[in-house]
Amino acid sequence: MMEIRTKTLSNIKRVLIKIGSAVLTGEDGLDLAIIDQLVDEMAGLSQKGYQVVLVTSGAIASGRHRMGLRGPVKSMPQKQALAAIGQGRLMRVYSNAFGRHRLFTAQILLTMSDLTDRKRYLNIRNTLSALMEWGIIAIINENDTVAVDEIKFGDNDHLAAMVANIIEAHLVINLTATEGLYDRNPMLFKKAKLIKLVEEITEEIEDAATEDTTSIGTGGMRSKVLAAKKVTAYGIPYIIAPGKQKGVLESILTGNDTGTLFLPEEKPMHSRKHWIAFTLRPKGKIMIDEGAKKALIEEGKSLLPSGIIDVEGSFDVGDPVNCIDAKGMSLATGLVNYGALEIRKIMGLKSSKIEQVLGYKDYDEVIHRDNLAITGNKINKKS
Ligand code: GLU
Repeated sequence: MMEIRTKTLSNIKRVLIKIGSAVLTGEDGLDLAIIDQLVDEMAGLSQKGYQVVLVTSGAIASGRHRMGLRGPVKSMPQKQALAAIGQGRLMRVYSNAFGRHRLFTAQILLTMSDLTDRKRYLNIRNTLSALMEWGIIAIINENDTVAVDEIKFGDNDHLAAMVANIIEAHLVINLTATEGLYDRNPMLFKKAKLIKLVEEITEEIEDAATEDTTSIGTGGMRSKVLAAKKVTAYGIPYIIAPGKQKGVLESILTGNDTGTLFLPEEKPMHSRKHWIAFTLRPKGKIMIDEGAKKALIEEGKSLLPSGIIDVEGSFDVGDPVNCIDAKGMSLATGLVNYGALEIRKIMGLKSSKIEQVLGYKDYDEVIHRDNLAITGNKINKKS
């Protein structure tokens, strides 16, 4: 076990650290003692030559405290206003804390649409890389004030997973209010056991992670495991660890058995496919039969009209679409060669019939394998 850790965590230089609101906030808004403690650790890493990028929540929680509000706030504009109130303070606290170590910070606020736009994506990448070269600590949060549903990451676990991809992190550490991932919800089951190592994210692992959240954070354990899936698919190891434990970062980087380690995929997904799978938002669904499922997942083949049993949504040529099996389980995301209306006409047919039905044939495949990113769980891959 220790050997796997040491091996996985050797040669690490660029670390993305995500800290959730449940770690950063106490009864009285931001917990300055915890922030100082974590900043001391991150500064220590930076001084040792690690490149540290931070994704942090806490804006809404801090704004809520400033406004004297108790309990969760439901209305979107109010949440956005609280983020605007709290973000400045959050940055000031971090900037003062890093300042004690003579380290400068930079604020970066992102929405999902910044990443789906290739130009903006590249700008962000270049900015982050300049900051890292200068040894500045980039502090990233969702731009809550402008993010409405369609352009929202939803939670900072997802945001951190996307940033890990952008900066090509060598390791992601998600600091949470618990010890790591348990086999059952530890708040409900006393005998729940901490899982120290996840070699593959199977359905069983996904099921172990419930959606329960604290009243402060938004993610819950499930979103952390889904984030782990995105990150490990890119070939980056992922650790969920206890953010309040003193020396947690040092402990992880020296190979101690802290938190839950998710091993990276041995054959990382190509960056374009990762982008198709995890950054683009699918515009519809294509339900496929067992034969097509096997061809896609086990044999790495393209999706042909013959394997399609149903189509949901309206989408055009080139749009990202989610492939699901008959039970509704998500298997893959790909860019389609035909629009939804055309696919409805040719589904279930041999490719040789496409021209006869549509009057033209641009492609044999509905989704070419080069444009298809498989995301089905390992358990599906074996079935
Ligand atoms: N962006 C939100 C904030 O800073 C938090 C989102 C999350 O906790 O996932 O308050």
